[in-house]
Amino acid sequence: MTSACGVCAIHENERLGELVAWESDRWILRHHAAPAPLAGWFLLDTKRHVASAADFDALEEAEFAQVLGAAMRAIRSAVEVPRVYVILFGEGAQHVHAHLIPRDPSQSGTAAWEIADWYRAVDSGKRPAAPSQNVACAVQRVREEMRATVKI
Ligand SMILES: [Zn+2]
Repeated sequence: MTSACGVCAIHENERLGELVAWESDRWILRHHAAPAPLAGWFLLDTKRHVASAADFDALEEAEFAQVLGAAMRAIRSAVEVPRVYVILFGEGAQHVHAHLIPRDPSQSGTAAWEIADWYRAVDSGKRPAAPSQNVACAVQRVREEMRATVKI
């Protein structure tokens, strides 16, 4: 059965596993599916269908900063960028899925809100997606970092 929520439907997809870098009882850290805008573009989802961080339960609220920080450090290290952006709209699917976006200063067209144009260009096929081998490498490296650093 496919859920009406896009994020819940993704979680129900048996092929999601290769994109998942880490998960716990309450969280899934997964790479953006193909076409991926950038290698290292991850999403941090709640497992529970919850529309907003304003609606977190006590455990989600207590763990969010810890998991977010660990995921950002893992991505920063895995794809060798100085910073990672966080965007959490909850608009396309009203289910918490924070976009964690590697910021590489050597890559023009990806600074701040330029990343939205970049995203749309990849989504529409005007710009090539990140190569699948680079995505697989990023997933593996983030998986190793998260396994070594997150203990919840
Ligand atoms: Zn959902």
